Amino acid sequence: MADRVPFWKSKSLSEMTAGEWESLCDGCGKCCLQKLEDEDSGKVYYTRVVCRYMTDDCRCSQYQRRHELVPNCVWLKPEDVDQFFWLPDTCAYRIVAEGRDLPDWHPLVARDANRIHAVDASIQHWDLVRDNEVPEEDWEEYIIDNQ
Ligand code: SF4
Ligand code: SF4
Repeated sequence: MADRVPFWKSKSLSEMTAGEWESLCDGCGKCCLQKLEDEDSGKVYYTRVVCRYMTDDCRCSQYQRRHELVPNCVWLKPEDVDQFFWLPDTCAYRIVAEGRDLPDWHPLVARDANRIHAVDASIQHWDLVRDNEVPEEDWEEYIIDNQ
């Protein structure tokens, strides 16, 4: 019997259940990097300055309180899909929004939450600094070319 079509291929982002939506996050940690926006062009630059609450395995140590503690903590919602262009190219929400296939290292495809780290698709092995270790006026020095 043919396998059922997985939900990320059969449903739009707005059709997913809360559990499906949560499971779509690959845990790469890239959205927890501080970003700088060029006010003139609107272009968003990623830096290797990471939120102070990120753990060594790219999890949030303050998940329940994250929006209270970090006002600019990313809160992705299906209704904001037209804003997803600034997300990393590898972000699963952006991939699904753009009608692309999830990569084979994605936890839902690989059925292994550590595969993403093993293939360096997360920021786990990046040379990062914490946002409480570097003054905000210096973040520009940490801009990275790709994410
Ligand atoms: S960039 Fe996307 S997939 Fe990666 S941790 Fe953030 S929300 Fe999840
Ligand atoms: S508070 Fe937000 S930005 Fe910081 S680690 Fe947690 S989810 Fe990421």
